[in-house]
Amino acid sequence: MRKVLIANRGEIAVRIARACDDAQLASVAVYADIDADALHVCAADEAYALGGNSPADTYLNIPKLLAAAAESGADALHPGYGFLSENAEFAQAVLDAGLTWIGPTPDAIRLLGNKITARETAVRAGAPLVAGSDGPVESAAEARAFAEKHGLPIAIKAAFGGGGRGMKVVRALDEVEEAFDSAVREAVAAFGRGECFVERYLDRPRHVEAQVLADQHGNVVVVGTRDCSLQRRHQKLVEEAPAPFLSDEQTQQIYDAAKAVCREAGYSGAGTVEFLVAADGTVAFLEVNTRLQVEHPITEETTGIDLVQEQFRIAAGEPLRVTEDPAPRGHSFEFRLNAEDVGRGFLPSPGTVDEFHGPTGPGVRLDTGVRPGSFVPPQFDSLLAKLIVTGADRQQALRRARRALAEIRITGVATVLPFHRAVLESPDFTSETGLGIHTRWIETDFAD
Ligand code: ADP
Repeated sequence: MRKVLIANRGEIAVRIARACDDAQLASVAVYADIDADALHVCAADEAYALGGNSPADTYLNIPKLLAAAAESGADALHPGYGFLSENAEFAQAVLDAGLTWIGPTPDAIRLLGNKITARETAVRAGAPLVAGSDGPVESAAEARAFAEKHGLPIAIKAAFGGGGRGMKVVRALDEVEEAFDSAVREAVAAFGRGECFVERYLDRPRHVEAQVLADQHGNVVVVGTRDCSLQRRHQKLVEEAPAPFLSDEQTQQIYDAAKAVCREAGYSGAGTVEFLVAADGTVAFLEVNTRLQVEHPITEETTGIDLVQEQFRIAAGEPLRVTEDPAPRGHSFEFRLNAEDVGRGFLPSPGTVDEFHGPTGPGVRLDTGVRPGSFVPPQFDSLLAKLIVTGADRQQALRRARRALAEIRITGVATVLPFHRAVLESPDFTSETGLGIHTRWIETDFAD
């Protein structure tokens, strides 16, 4: 591997270009017309125009990405997150073009990308799960029968759903029929496939995930856990590592299940196994993300492991350097700096960044895709940058986070900074005795 094409934009493309540089690999950026002056274009050694501005014409366009790879002489491709990162056909096309795909095999992506086959894999692996249907449910009557047998509430979920779309929560039997029809309809419209399954819906769970590294020789380690319960409409806003307030038994269950699922799926690369932790402490497998996560830096900061460089090594066929699950050191938070207007219901706020003044000091890392003068286009993700703050323990990390969030200044576009500052004043989040946050806390408890 000598030259890596980065099939992405924004902060993650910059992050990957830096990892290439650290690993002494050449990097190639691609860009939409509107991104010609973007930071990720400067961060890479070379850049190729994709032509056009819609996602379909640019970062989702497989022929154009492969043409840029051929033209540049790249011999490997990193997909980042989002866009085509979990698309098995793209992974296969990259391999067929003779390039190294920096990710899991197309078969593993296919198996785990379908929530029904992912669930079946977790069952075979002996992972803890909430009660669910065996495979797809074909009708509202079948979903109703499940609810009558297992109780309410239930979630009707699209096999190919994501981002909270194609999922309906049902709290009364006479709502099953309408919810089933609308889940199928939404899934067909958004993902082109309507298969759905049913599982018990947990009220007020925490979202805890395990970061996994697996090589092509059968070695699997859990690098650490993260808590990502602070979500708005299923979009994560703040994450922390390691996941706090878990018992040793819960942690062990999560580590064991994450490894077993990866082994069962023949997984290689960096991946994330997601779990819900119910209010009563029960752990349940949720799904696997077959890519690098947005929130990967907090695991890097609490382990000293550069996950992107590990991805390079695994893709090159090398064995894992870490053979034991590393013990976490310190505590880290990530704050997603989205260009969204908190006062207007988190409405995206595209435009030109005027001032961009980052915080400094001990424990501060800022992964950014923008600088003063950058244009934030409306057609792409609103994530501008990620503030990652680390301390010796959770309370020190919280104090540093308050300081960093007070120092940072971004003007020209609205950002979610006021939300982050408010969260750090909430005892639900900052308590030393337990996390009072659950996945729907913003909707149900946060007064904005
Ligand atoms: P996505 O592909 O969008 O990540 P998930 O299956 O992970 O889809 O579900 C998204 C979110 O929906 C989860 O983070 C969680 O907050 C919520 N969720 C999913 N399944 C359940 C469930 N059975 N009980 C409670 N919440 C759930």
